[in-house]
Amino acid sequence: MSVPLSSTSEQLPLAARLPEDRSQEPSEAFLQALADASAELESATPEEIIRWAVGMYGQKLTMATAFGPEGCLILSMLSQVDKGIYVFNLETGYQFQETLDTRDNIAAKYGITVDYQSHEQTVGEYEAEHGGPLYRTNPNQCCFDRKVKVLHRVTKGFNAWMSGIRRDQSPHRANTPIVGWDKKFKLVKISPLANWKKNDVWKRIVEEGVPYNPLHDKGYPSIGCWPCTKAVGLGEDERAGRWSGTAKTECGLHLLDTNGSDDS
Ligand code: SF4
Repeated sequence: MSVPLSSTSEQLPLAARLPEDRSQEPSEAFLQALADASAELESATPEEIIRWAVGMYGQKLTMATAFGPEGCLILSMLSQVDKGIYVFNLETGYQFQETLDTRDNIAAKYGITVDYQSHEQTVGEYEAEHGGPLYRTNPNQCCFDRKVKVLHRVTKGFNAWMSGIRRDQSPHRANTPIVGWDKKFKLVKISPLANWKKNDVWKRIVEEGVPYNPLHDKGYPSIGCWPCTKAVGLGEDERAGRWSGTAKTECGLHLLDTNGSDDS
């Protein structure tokens, strides 16, 4: 379904009509339209879901990726649908070089150059202001400043965003709908791989030669910033290496954001 940018609000399908004033909660009818779309897309392929999202939201759709396997796979699919969708990476200044290299490999293969979006302060300025690296003393604040706030800033002006989260990644993500309302960012959130398993993702990556972060071959199933990511042992949870040794399990981008549910 293609939605011309010139459409008036009344002409748009209900699932595309966001509140004009984003400080207002969306209507029950709108939330129901998203729930209906999500239920309908439950049996669709990720490619069909991406096509639906592009058709529904056009250039008002964006995507954030940390170049996890799911993000890389979605980018390979998106390149077949619309290379013009704005995709960005939250470049905290603490990412592994291998992650940054993956961005270049994706661009070379699929012609999608993921834009870097960062906090206004460099790592040096930020650490100087806080008397050292906050990831050691207050990782929640560090993630909030260098990821969550940046995502808020970048997504202003968009109506929907896509993420690579899967339900089986963690209990926080178990109820992720294919399409839902992201209360935190006031956006429709589309998760084309929500009902895929880890093996489904890797099978497709290997079959199609999708570029991925080489750290996955060195014991890092989930990769974030280098100070907060460790390799995990055999049989450990796939997110066990993130903020290892602390109670923190999420950076805050995907927590409590979609009507009670939650690639970074
Ligand atoms: S993952 Fe660690 S280094 Fe990266 S933003 Fe969060 S606390 Fe800071």
